[in-house]
Amino acid sequence: MANESANDTAQNIGPVILLGPPGAGKGTQSRRIVEHYGIPQISTGDLLRDHVARGTALGLEAKVIMARGELVPDELMYGIVATRLREADCKRGFVLDGFPRTAPQAGWLDAFLEKEVFDKSEKCPPVVIQLLVDYTQLLQRLAGRRSCPTCGRLYNIHSQPPLVDELCDVDGSKLVIRDDDREEVISGRLAAYETQTRRVADYYRAQRRLVAINADRTMDEVTAQIFAVIDNHFKDGCE
Ligand code: AMP
Repeated sequence: MANESANDTAQNIGPVILLGPPGAGKGTQSRRIVEHYGIPQISTGDLLRDHVARGTALGLEAKVIMARGELVPDELMYGIVATRLREADCKRGFVLDGFPRTAPQAGWLDAFLEKEVFDKSEKCPPVVIQLLVDYTQLLQRLAGRRSCPTCGRLYNIHSQPPLVDELCDVDGSKLVIRDDDREEVISGRLAAYETQTRRVADYYRAQRRLVAINADRTMDEVTAQIFAVIDNHFKDGCE
């Protein structure tokens, strides 16, 4: 699958937006898109966690909100997303994981892409892929999730266990349960998804830009579906 990646031809891919509730596999699938197409993954959760780790003013504000499983206010998100998307590695395209999460964020992103990232010679509308997952499977995935505090790699004790129990395959660090993956926080995160993020799907559906995918299948099957959607959307390259 990886032999003939779009990266070989350095073709423009444009923005790829992955939508789906926490635990739908956005992180894993994003990383596969990164490897296959050679475009960066922009995870707003990772950007925020980086601010928290560095103890910035934004990080201090976001930490409390994230630990409660709530969404960080839109106004705080715009600055960090704009800064990241202006970096040179985003020129050929990027995969957004975890953004937009509210309808206003979706509107902001459209305006930003129109104005700043893709100028007239490089216009390429985003492809928006929604991962649909059964609720029971979601709970199981989230409760089984472990992450490496050193490299950030994600595991699942049910579906993607590490080679050695509790230890990261890459660097041997002891795996941890992220604060917001604790069971008492999970239901709050899913509720936030229900009330806010559904409107993002509605926003893109109304514009006929939403492609829904059944993400209850195996990781590889879901990846194959996603690559097919991206290849089809960008088959002629960006204008
Ligand atoms: P994630 O790693 O994508 O699950 O994000 C972890 C947490 O970061 C979320 O539960 C939110 O508190 C916050 N977060 C991430 N992305 C956004 C966003 N686009 N808007 C608001 N809050 C966000």
